Amino acid sequence: MRGKTVLVVGGGSIAGRRVPRLLEAGALINLVAPEATTTLSDLAASGEIHWSAREWQPGDGADAWFVLAATDDPAVNAAVAVEAEAARTWCVRSDDAEASDAWTLAQTEFDGVTVGVSASGDPGRAAAIRDSIGAALRSGELAAPRTRGRGRGAGVALVGAGPGEADLITLRGLELLRQAEVVVSDRLAPQELLDQLADDVEIVDAAKLPYGRHTTQEQINAVMVERALEGKFVVRLKGGDGFVFGRGAEELDACLEAGVPVEVVPGLSSSIAGPAAAGIPVTERGVVHDFTVATGHVPPGPQSKVNWAALGAGNGTIVLLMAVKNRAAIAAALLEGGRDAATPVRIVENATTKNQTVRPCTLASLGETEANHPAVIVIGAVAGRGREL
Ligand code: SAH
Repeated sequence: MRGKTVLVVGGGSIAGRRVPRLLEAGALINLVAPEATTTLSDLAASGEIHWSAREWQPGDGADAWFVLAATDDPAVNAAVAVEAEAARTWCVRSDDAEASDAWTLAQTEFDGVTVGVSASGDPGRAAAIRDSIGAALRSGELAAPRTRGRGRGAGVALVGAGPGEADLITLRGLELLRQAEVVVSDRLAPQELLDQLADDVEIVDAAKLPYGRHTTQEQINAVMVERALEGKFVVRLKGGDGFVFGRGAEELDACLEAGVPVEVVPGLSSSIAGPAAAGIPVTERGVVHDFTVATGHVPPGPQSKVNWAALGAGNGTIVLLMAVKNRAAIAAALLEGGRDAATPVRIVENATTKNQTVRPCTLASLGETEANHPAVIVIGAVAGRGREL
């Protein structure tokens, strides 16, 4: 379709759905319709499509390679189709699959593969099959092996795997993971994602790297950079989002310093997704207008870079990561800063996974309440709104 003219007759919801896809494919759109949806008229106003605001007339399809007859008047659609037929131009009639020369396929794309489904003129069925195939491709259940090498050149992608459940990785993250020749993985990254990789993919378990003279982080950086310099495409898979307490910055620096091409793929962070999975919004209109994500791996005191007194004095939501061990000391610091002892708290363990557990308590009782790693601790009014899932 790139650079080819398409005549679209009718400016309603069907045209509104088809035009963006045609544009994405590079088609030049001539829309003929006395009226058009807001989306279509916006596209015309910004010059992305050409719109003749009038009824269709014979000759409109003269320079078209493809015609879409999508008016709500069957007689007009029929006339458009007859003209297209005479000009040997394929025409899709949106109102009558039987009378149509061509059908629009239900389409999906994944990792350089386009799948189009036609189901004897039953568009709902075609869409359902398209969705099943798309899901199976994305999960790896339907194999899509490449016969001519993997798609990417050498480089590194820093991919956030999401908070726990394997299907909470982004589509982009999954697509890159499928193309990886080396995967450097994290303790918190979902194991199922690794189980789906092809046998020839090298998996480096970051938790098992020998320490030697260097910290493991230096070793992770070294492995990523080395493999990329050998010409491989490396995915660094991280739990949650790699830039939230994930040392993603150091990994990015290592790649940039080595001159290795690098891409950052954000992930759903447990700091927001964890509470959400337990029915707790980190903000709520009219209740709380700010939230802070803090790490609790260093207890309050001179070593900590968190201003616990200021957090105690505020009234926003506080989300604590890596805070299971130091929860009593943190609660004490927040109380000392001025937070109410009755402030609701929820401890969300193994958020989003089948082992998710939510433990309710208050700031006063946080220290004595059971908590197991990995957990996010949500403190503030949003934690006490009673939306149990
Ligand atoms: N980069 C990650 C956070 C890494 S720090 C992210 O954006 O999610 C590790 C901490 O994240 C854990 O100690 C815990 O506090 C939290 N965490 C990660 N996954 C979790 C999960 N599934 N449930 C609860 N907390 C989780």
